[in-house]
Amino acid sequence: MQAKSTVFKAARVANAELTAWLPDHAVIVDSGRISAVAPSSQLPDDTRSRYEVYELGDVSLLPGLCDAHCHMHCSAEPNAQEQALTEGNDVLLMRAVTAMRRILMSGTTTVRDIGSRNEVSFAVLSGIESGVIPGPRLICAGTPITITSGHCWFFGTEADTKEQVVQAIRRQVKLGARVIKMMATGGMFTPTANPRMPQYDADTLRAAVREAERMDVQIVAHTLSAEGTRNCVDAGIHHLIHARWLDADPAKKLAFDPRVAERMAENGQWVDPTIGHHLLGDEARAAVENPLQVKPWSMQQVTITEEEHIATIRGMHDAGVRFTAGLDMGMPYSSHANSGANAWSFHEWLGWDTWKAIRANTADTAAALRVGDEVGRIEPGKVADLAVFRGDPAANIRALINAVTVVQGGRVVKLNGESLL
Ligand SMILES: [Zn+2]
Repeated sequence: MQAKSTVFKAARVANAELTAWLPDHAVIVDSGRISAVAPSSQLPDDTRSRYEVYELGDVSLLPGLCDAHCHMHCSAEPNAQEQALTEGNDVLLMRAVTAMRRILMSGTTTVRDIGSRNEVSFAVLSGIESGVIPGPRLICAGTPITITSGHCWFFGTEADTKEQVVQAIRRQVKLGARVIKMMATGGMFTPTANPRMPQYDADTLRAAVREAERMDVQIVAHTLSAEGTRNCVDAGIHHLIHARWLDADPAKKLAFDPRVAERMAENGQWVDPTIGHHLLGDEARAAVENPLQVKPWSMQQVTITEEEHIATIRGMHDAGVRFTAGLDMGMPYSSHANSGANAWSFHEWLGWDTWKAIRANTADTAAALRVGDEVGRIEPGKVADLAVFRGDPAANIRALINAVTVVQGGRVVKLNGESLL
């Protein structure tokens, strides 16, 4: 369907560089793409007869948010992981459809799902692409690839040897995956997995990267341990998820290695530090009396504080590593509607200025997802995916929540708080 030509006027429009507001500007959209950005006072006199004009008022107009880390079939409730273990595909599919609507209506117009059952994610992908259900621009991995009994085995593909991993990657691509998710180490909520230890050696990950690149798909890996993170760097994994540095010894804490971080930066490997997820979790748990806390056996001997993890995240950033926004949507307390919390965490926990945090949640993540030529900035030629927020997120980063108006490919899908789909 050809979108109508439109003009969106707002008190604050983000400039193309995402470094400042253009005051009282208008974004002009033709055939679903941005054709011009101009001061509202300089629009031609016949604008009203040629375009549908939206006077949005005292709001902030940004590119639609981009998020690199979603689990569409998870509920974000405290017991989300247990649900994913026990619920059937029919319920998980309905959860995913609901989540896709929520993501889009919150102002997040591009999302990468890196771990949900194949039966759910590829059904949802075709539902969105054929216009049957509303949803953001979606890039899907389908099931993550893990070892037998490894992290997330209950919605993953189990593959142990190099040959099995290569075959699993081919199967995912055949189903429609544009990104491959590997579980390079154990994780926190799978009882039979150890987050302190690698699940694959560097050689196996290297074979996986080679296979993904042969088929021109991205490859990302969950890694919580220092050895796992080093393996991912050695193997050339495109995007490291979490990128933590747990020591292999259950009696020790972290084993951050700045030389590995430097190589990560030199290789241009992206990191999704998932600290927005931690910020939301810490705030939610502080508000209830007996919060549900999952601590696997290998993590019970010592307590590692949030600040100790943050120091390693800072270490990677100082080494020159680039970060994306990736909320781990669907995991406990990480609502699909809260992608902006990534930017909150970059500003509040890492001390980034608000525009840098906003860029991470838009243009930088779009680039990491390989769609930076299409979306992530407000400039002529880009697809008109726009999110409009009350208040000023550059002055108060927490205003980056609940977009009041959302435009997808030039089409208004939410207007002044009201969903139109
Ligand atoms: Zn995740």
